[in-house]
Amino acid sequence: MKPKHLIVIGGGASGVFCAVNAAAMSPGLQVTVLEKTHRLLSKVEVSGGGRCNVTHHSNDIDEMSACYPRGRHFVRKAFHQFFITDTIAWFGERGVPIISEADGRMFPSTNTSSTIIRCLLSEAERHAVRFRLRSEVSGIQVASTGFRVLLTDGSELVADFIFIACGGLQKSAASEWIAATGHEIVPSAPSLFTFNLPGHPIVRLMGVSVPETSIRIEGMKFRSEGPVLITHWGLSGPGILKLSAFAARELQTAGYKFRVIIDWLPSLSREEMHAHIRLQRADRGGQVVHARSLFGFPTRLWQFLLEVVGVTPDCRWADLPSSRQSALVELLKGHMFEVSGKTTFKEEFVTAGGVSTRQVDPSSMQSRLVDGLYFGGELLDVDGITGGYNFQHAWTSGWVAARHISGRV
Ligand SMILES: Cc1cc2nc3c(=O)[nH]c(=O)nc-3n(C[C@H](O)[C@H](O)[C@H](O)COP(=O)(O)OP(=O)(O)OC[C@H]3O[C@@H](n4cnc5c(N)ncnc54)[C@H](O)[C@@H]3O)c2cc1C
Repeated sequence: MKPKHLIVIGGGASGVFCAVNAAAMSPGLQVTVLEKTHRLLSKVEVSGGGRCNVTHHSNDIDEMSACYPRGRHFVRKAFHQFFITDTIAWFGERGVPIISEADGRMFPSTNTSSTIIRCLLSEAERHAVRFRLRSEVSGIQVASTGFRVLLTDGSELVADFIFIACGGLQKSAASEWIAATGHEIVPSAPSLFTFNLPGHPIVRLMGVSVPETSIRIEGMKFRSEGPVLITHWGLSGPGILKLSAFAARELQTAGYKFRVIIDWLPSLSREEMHAHIRLQRADRGGQVVHARSLFGFPTRLWQFLLEVVGVTPDCRWADLPSSRQSALVELLKGHMFEVSGKTTFKEEFVTAGGVSTRQVDPSSMQSRLVDGLYFGGELLDVDGITGGYNFQHAWTSGWVAARHISGRV
């Protein structure tokens, strides 16, 4: 009997993971990966600054799923089949230990993405996965028995199953031929970006970071907690990136012009701050306010904040007008910035939007409309915050599809 044929469209993390697992699970299955460029796994290579942030440490599916601004419920169901522990075990069993950093990001112990690439490609070789590079798909047609896959060079292939994992659809020609299969495409929006503050004096403090802040966007429901880093163009750091991800669509609609409000010290209330300042006045009345920062703030930021509220460089604690004290506390609890524009976060960026998860079954990654057609990775309307979440979704969706396909061979 002729072997069944799986065609994977896209040689990225999700496509290659699906291909090697499907081939390993079903030795009788013929697996071909079509990749439009001349390189496989190119994003894996550059990811995490060349170290590949493979996944994120968490033992809790709900906690992990909450880090996906789009697709939270979808990934939660899929994670019940293939979770972080499975990713770690999968690479570990193939000689690639994955280790965790203090902030939860997980990397190969070698600290280089080439280890991940070598591992995936040697698995592919072991299980006879075929790769066709410079093979761009321009369409698929549902035939009476399976599919016809059309390439831009005019050639055609036939398949029994198709796994489409051609990445984010922003500016991609793939959206047209995928839409032609009857699937809804949720419009794209960039996610994971930093906020520009053109001309704002705070950019003088570039390199300064504050570890625990609370950030919200004026007039919107979005809020995030986490570190803020001041850069030479504006605001960055995990707290800002998380906010950009959750508010990606609304900020796109706002043309990236909005106001962000930072609480520089959410762990202290206004009353506690006033009490702390009163102590300074009593104990260090003769000391200059600018000389030593309070609340553990970096000195440069402390002096900047004092400047904003008009505390002069020679002002002593005992002479600090109570109006300036109040203004300082108000600024610390709600420092407002006018954002105008965004900058792509070079370490990791993703595209929100893609194939609607309403038309895909998360327990198999199979289309609810076309039998034998599967979707995975960033192509789906699923995206996570920075820290390894996007790769985990790529591995999970690839593996879930592979297992379902292997059950049908
Ligand atoms: C610079 C950078 C760093 C990142 N770092 C991290 C990180 O450390 N951790 C993390 O979790 N996430 C990271 N991400 C996000 C992560 O890389 C993606 O979410 C992930 O690669 C998605 O995998 P994918 O297989 O779905 O798509 P992709 O990796 O984008 O692969 C899709 C593939 O399909 C091919 N293709 C497209 N159209 C066609 C077609 N018509 N025919 C044939 N082939 C086609 C493309 O050429 C590409 O090779 C990073 C992203 C970037 C840009």
